[in-house]
Amino acid sequence: MLTTDPASQQQLLYPPADAEEVPIIILLSRATECPFAIKGSGHTAFKGASNSHGGITIEFAQIKQVIPSADRKSVVIGPGNTCLGTVGVSGLILGGGISFFSGQYGWICDSIISYQIVLGSGEILTALRGGGGGNFGVGAQFVASTFEQVPIWGGFLTWEMHGSKMALIDAMVNYAEKGSLQDPKAALIVSFAHVQRYQTWVSSLIVDHPDPLPEGSHPEVFDENFNIGNPFADSTRTATHSNLTAASYWAMTTRLDKQSELDILTIFEEETTPILDLADFLPSSRRHGGNALGIGGGEEPLLLISFSPMWVSTTDDGAVLTWSLARERGLNHPFSYINYGSQIQDPLAGYGAENLARLVEVSKKYDPNGVL
Ligand SMILES: Cc1cc2nc3c(=O)[nH]c(=O)nc-3n(C[C@H](O)[C@H](O)[C@H](O)COP(=O)(O)OP(=O)(O)OC[C@H]3O[C@@H](n4cnc5c(N)ncnc54)[C@H](O)[C@@H]3O)c2cc1C
Repeated sequence: MLTTDPASQQQLLYPPADAEEVPIIILLSRATECPFAIKGSGHTAFKGASNSHGGITIEFAQIKQVIPSADRKSVVIGPGNTCLGTVGVSGLILGGGISFFSGQYGWICDSIISYQIVLGSGEILTALRGGGGGNFGVGAQFVASTFEQVPIWGGFLTWEMHGSKMALIDAMVNYAEKGSLQDPKAALIVSFAHVQRYQTWVSSLIVDHPDPLPEGSHPEVFDENFNIGNPFADSTRTATHSNLTAASYWAMTTRLDKQSELDILTIFEEETTPILDLADFLPSSRRHGGNALGIGGGEEPLLLISFSPMWVSTTDDGAVLTWSLARERGLNHPFSYINYGSQIQDPLAGYGAENLARLVEVSKKYDPNGVL
């Protein structure tokens, strides 16, 4: 049933009960020339990314089945499911999907065995490869391979930024160049942020390792990080995955370079300072035959950077949207992760000419009228 979104009054929400209802709404939309958009959980931060202003938004909130196979080696997942709190599995899978287990099992799209896709023609078919986003059809069901998982070790470490940034950047570069090769099961995310409420710059690490550890210990690969000392918060522990993982995004990928990371941080600080007082600033593979992302198999480590300023007033949009340092240094890698990208980026162009040409070919074949 179509209902009006009470928040906007300008979009019609359609929550299909199952995959068979999706072609009906697509064909209705085409026949009436009423635009439609697809929403997994709606976690893309920019306006219009997964909703249609003045059109129909197909939202999958009702299709939430999670059905393990009899041998528990695979699982059928409905597109309305969420993980990491409220992040939608649909967008996560279709865009690629980085997880704590990516070092071991690849990106999430690499673990998808098959996709049930509804084409712009209304036809439902099974596809085998992901990573191209929702550009070819509507993902109505995913079948993923599974693995056994006991409690994992992980958590956050937080420091005041100015006293810790050099040591953290050193540790990150050493981890990327050596540690991640010595212990591919581990994962590390380095963040720098300004916390408006406390008027403080902070550095933060998310670390994890799938092997449980005794309390008070950490994996050897993170020795350098723990040697930094005096974090003002340390939540690392062994716990279940769900226990451990209790905006606008910009994505870029650069070749690893210590000075660039420092300069990015300096510019981040300089550029962020003028917008610190915005009103209500919120606290803030290849295993299954490869994917379309165009990364992996390279000879050097890459740094995937996500800029995520958060603000509430559209009048502040212009003050926030800016960027480009690595390009000037010649370090920029063309890949920018679609799920961390902003509305003015072109992530598919960064998949490499060959992958892009293949995606265009697939799109022409399966969506000749450019419905999606
Ligand atoms: C707090 C937070 C944590 C995050 N953590 C991670 C992380 O650890 N790893 C990671 O890789 N990413 C992470 N992300 C990014 C996340 O992968 C993306 O935001 C992703 O797009 C979320 O999916 P969604 O279904 O909620 O998005 P939506 O905004 O609903 O959809 C994203 C895009 O996919 C399209 N789409 C959605 N569902 C379908 C479908 N069924 N068929 C066709 N097209 C569809 C939409 O139209 C839209 O273009 C995180 C984001 C947030 C906000």
